Amino acid sequence: MAVPPSILDRVRQGIVVGDGGYLLELERRGYVDSGSEREKVGTGRGSGQFTPEVAIENPDALRGLHREFLRAGAQVLQALTFFATREKLSRAGFGAHTESINAAAVRLAREVAGTQALVAGSVARTQLFERKGPSTAGHVRDLLAEQIQLLKAAGVDFLILETFFHLEEMMIGLECAAISGLPVMATMSFRPTTERCSDGHTPAECARRMADAGAALVGANCEQEPARMLPILFAMRSVVRDRVGIAAQPAAFRTTDQTPCFTKLSQFPDDLETIQVSRREFREFGRQARREGIGYVGGCCGCNAVYIRSLARGVRE
Ligand SMILES: [Zn+2]
Repeated sequence: MAVPPSILDRVRQGIVVGDGGYLLELERRGYVDSGSEREKVGTGRGSGQFTPEVAIENPDALRGLHREFLRAGAQVLQALTFFATREKLSRAGFGAHTESINAAAVRLAREVAGTQALVAGSVARTQLFERKGPSTAGHVRDLLAEQIQLLKAAGVDFLILETFFHLEEMMIGLECAAISGLPVMATMSFRPTTERCSDGHTPAECARRMADAGAALVGANCEQEPARMLPILFAMRSVVRDRVGIAAQPAAFRTTDQTPCFTKLSQFPDDLETIQVSRREFREFGRQARREGIGYVGGCCGCNAVYIRSLARGVRE
């Protein structure tokens, strides 16, 4: 049986279309807790703020969303393992299920992907750099190493390290990923400005450091709509051109010059419908990305299947 092409082979052959954002979409469908009601609920359990226990609690809901993205044209399905490190899951009351949530998420994505799509393991920031500062680096390393081991054991094709606010934490993630031997796509999220990440590095510096640390694709995801993310990608491309590919998974929410990141806007999380950008912007983004030689495009928060279908159409045009 022929070995299917790896993510690196696919990117060499042309732009790869990824999938959309799972946690916000499943929150809208009632399967994920945004945390916005948690003070009122006050039970501890279920107060997880976008944790992915849906993989074991409502697997059909997750399976269905994977199918929608695949039908829309996604060539990669991300296992819903975002925020599935043991400490984050523990804060939501699901720490004891860390192994089963990661394994189930990969199994569901693989089941739907079949031979039609690759399966990526999603690894996100732990939130400990934001909550406790850089002194927490050792704990972060243990948590990311554990999750990456679980994803490798579950059989992902490659890793997507995404939505890191601090480059220092991303570097820890990339060291853990290198030990796994899996190909890695690494994307930072720029907040509160698009000029520097949370620990003060420009997009160009982030790109160079991530490429030096072994990422095969570097880029940005979440926080901004496509038009506002493009300058970040161009700045990154200017320093890593020809060395590694560029990856982009923008959010589908309109941000402002004053607040260029949707999670800092007052509309997050309960009024996001009022700042949703249209699918047409993702179609245009697909066209631009192809023209500009971007290697990988998908969507992050706010992108359901209709956005991915439009993006895929734009890429083909
Ligand atoms: Zn996002």
